[in-house]
Amino acid sequence: MALEAYRQKRNFRITPEPAGRLAKKKAGRLSFVVQKHAASHLHYDFRLELGGVLLSWSVPKGPTLTVNERRLAVRTEDHPLDYASFEGTIPKGEYGGGSVIVWDRGTWTPLEDPERGLKKGRLSFELDGEKLHGRFHLVRMAPRDKRENWLLFKGDDEEASKANGKALVDARPESVLSGRTIEEIGDAKQSSPRKMQSAKKKKSIAGTDERPSGVLDAVKALP
Ligand code: MN
Repeated sequence: MALEAYRQKRNFRITPEPAGRLAKKKAGRLSFVVQKHAASHLHYDFRLELGGVLLSWSVPKGPTLTVNERRLAVRTEDHPLDYASFEGTIPKGEYGGGSVIVWDRGTWTPLEDPERGLKKGRLSFELDGEKLHGRFHLVRMAPRDKRENWLLFKGDDEEASKANGKALVDARPESVLSGRTIEEIGDAKQSSPRKMQSAKKKKSIAGTDERPSGVLDAVKALP
């Protein structure tokens, strides 16, 4: 998949999402992003940078740190790299209409050849995000319909949580870019879209200092 499927689904004169372009392969660490998306069904879009695009999966329940919980992850179209900083509201009636926040962001390290893993249907990797850390696996299930269904789950390591505490998606609902919740993004859009945009800009610049350098490089490399 390149970005044709991504572009075909969207009208960039209406949606604020980036039209994007294929990025050149760059040296350095690969980025990942998890976006919380209040579309017709709330879900988390889990995206891994590979080959100049963001490989994407839609995870209805979101990622978990609990080792024995496997989360359905439906493969979706590749997204452009600059989608990783998209936060805002896609207008109603457009593809994926609803609000989006950047729920987590950082770098990922494949533990095996990721191109081969993608073909085989098994990706093992480490995440170094602001919320997600440690080893994770994505495994493709036997094909049943047109959808490519995978399972996302936590590897057993020091970062795994075995406690029955509050799930991470509930304990940390906020955006790592703006600190806002998805409800706040949605409300701001309705009352004063301009105000929200300028506040978002300021916050995301202020927050840049605290992000890992790999992400900072990725941010600088954006068009
Ligand atoms: Mn989505």
